[in-house]
Amino acid sequence: MPKFRLKPKLGMLFIVAVVIPSVILSLMAIRAVSREEAYIEKRLEETLLAEIDHAVSLVNTELREIQGELVNTASIPEDGDYARSFLAWKEASSLVGIPYLLSPTHKILWPKFDQGLTNEELCFLGWARDFFHDRTSIPIPLNIALAYKDEIMKESPRPQLQEREESGQRDTDKTGSYSYKDQYRAQQALSRFRQDEPVRREVYEQAEKKGQRLLSRIVEIPAKGFTKQKESQGQKSMFVLEPLRFSQIIAEAESGIIPNLIEERLRLIFWKKDKAGRIVGCVISQEGLIERILGVLPDIYSPVRILTILDERARPLIAPLGDPGRNWRRPFVAREISEILPHWEMVAYLTDPNVASSKAHMAALIMWMLVIILIISITTGGVLILKSLYSEMALAKQKTTFVANVSHELKTPLTSIRLFTEMLKERCQPDEAKRKKYLDIMLSETERLTRLINNVLDFSRMEQGKRDYNMRELDLISLCKNIFEGQRVRLEHNGFEVSFRADTECLIVQADEEAIKQVALNLLANAEKYSDKRREISIELVQSQNSALINIKDRGIGIPSREAENIFKEFYRVDDTLTSRVRGSGLGLTIAQRIIQDHHGEILYLPREGGGSIFQIRLPLKGERP
Ligand code: ADP
Repeated sequence: MPKFRLKPKLGMLFIVAVVIPSVILSLMAIRAVSREEAYIEKRLEETLLAEIDHAVSLVNTELREIQGELVNTASIPEDGDYARSFLAWKEASSLVGIPYLLSPTHKILWPKFDQGLTNEELCFLGWARDFFHDRTSIPIPLNIALAYKDEIMKESPRPQLQEREESGQRDTDKTGSYSYKDQYRAQQALSRFRQDEPVRREVYEQAEKKGQRLLSRIVEIPAKGFTKQKESQGQKSMFVLEPLRFSQIIAEAESGIIPNLIEERLRLIFWKKDKAGRIVGCVISQEGLIERILGVLPDIYSPVRILTILDERARPLIAPLGDPGRNWRRPFVAREISEILPHWEMVAYLTDPNVASSKAHMAALIMWMLVIILIISITTGGVLILKSLYSEMALAKQKTTFVANVSHELKTPLTSIRLFTEMLKERCQPDEAKRKKYLDIMLSETERLTRLINNVLDFSRMEQGKRDYNMRELDLISLCKNIFEGQRVRLEHNGFEVSFRADTECLIVQADEEAIKQVALNLLANAEKYSDKRREISIELVQSQNSALINIKDRGIGIPSREAENIFKEFYRVDDTLTSRVRGSGLGLTIAQRIIQDHHGEILYLPREGGGSIFQIRLPLKGERP
């Protein structure tokens, strides 16, 4: 049977086309949703890092400019009037804190003790004397990524740029600044150092072995996004401290800035050599420096973030007004600025710390809704397609069986009519009674044939909405009695016990006689067809309120309750062995129901107590509204 071969195939189709894609889709969506927060945080981190990197480069450019400016303005008066000249220098530049002058042997020529020094100048001279005379060294920060760039880049491929430049350019030019090649390599080393945890660890180990002191950062950056499993990112500074004496520091350049941390406070000391080997310089004023740096900083406040610089004691150089007491040591992202400013950090905080999670929740909510809508529509679509496919298949199957049944139904009576006609024609049956019986059989077969053809024709007419009724007043009792009498002989001959009962004299209805007759004959034919051993058929007519009821009862095979609602559908035949032995078109009840509905009545199937079926026709009595 096609039914049993096709069903599993459709099931597979449903699984392959609907279930599997929906499951995969949902899994992908769930995964994406659960990673959304991490993605958003990661994106935010990348954006803010790019922004603070840019700010760091602005500050570094400004530091170079500051150094350039000091180099240009620092001069040693030929007339020896240091007091006037240094005062003028101080007044001309807000960067100049305490000017100083050293002889070629690094003897302090200015400030002089006999000049009435300020506290600050005294303090400066206090530590500077030993330092300038190389009696003490101070820890100078070195950028570890630059100091160890060759080790860091050891295993990475050589960049194209390097090869192009190698032939022509030297590593440094005359002023001591780096060439492009060196800057490029330094950049690469820096980013590799930042990203590659094992490389970082190795470089720190090497620095420690060399006796360089590791610095720790003043900020703690909370681990975020995908790195949540690690407690937090490495908190070691990118700068290591190397103790250097003054003569070592100034050996390889003409000018520079020395950062010096005294009692946790950072002082920057500018120096510049002159032709005679003297050294002129100044302690850079903290206020002047901060003012210049803040001048190049981008807007500190945006709807997303707060950007500022923390000094060596983790205090912001500038903070938005009315900002709640925040833990400045825990920024969202941070970068160290320069070896000139050890411990200073460019930092960014989220204006709303929950921005990532609330954005992620919103995105997750929308995603979930879309996923649910998608799954519901895929499943509903799939189920609807399957349903319609099944009913199409069932209809196709019913139509095929219908054609087979009708052809058989046509052939059977024709064969017997032909057989008896031939017998009568050849007069091979002299017995009058038998000849009458043959004629009766032929008549009943002709009626069967007519009924079948009528059913098919009526069905097609009804489908096109073309059936006309010849409505007139009609007594149902006499109509049914006639039908009963017409069928009785044949039924009794076929072994049926038949009975007719009416509990009133007459039941007048407005109806088409032929149509009602067709319904009754269809129901009687069914009662006959679907009876097995217990052969009993009765017709009962009853008046019930405003209606006439015709009950056609049999003691046949009955109809299972789950099939009862289907039997009035076109081409529908109960699918069991008993029914399939009996041929039929599956149209009889459909036509009966349509005719009765056209008469404003109804037809019902009722299971009969003790076995069998009852088909009940209800028609409105004449003059009564249904
Ligand atoms: P058919 O030509 O197959 O008889 P019908 O439309 O008259 O078509 O009936 C539809 C189906 O209802 C039948 O195939 C049969 O299974 C069931 N049926 C109808 N009448 C009876 C009955 N009196 N007893 C048992 N089953 C019946």
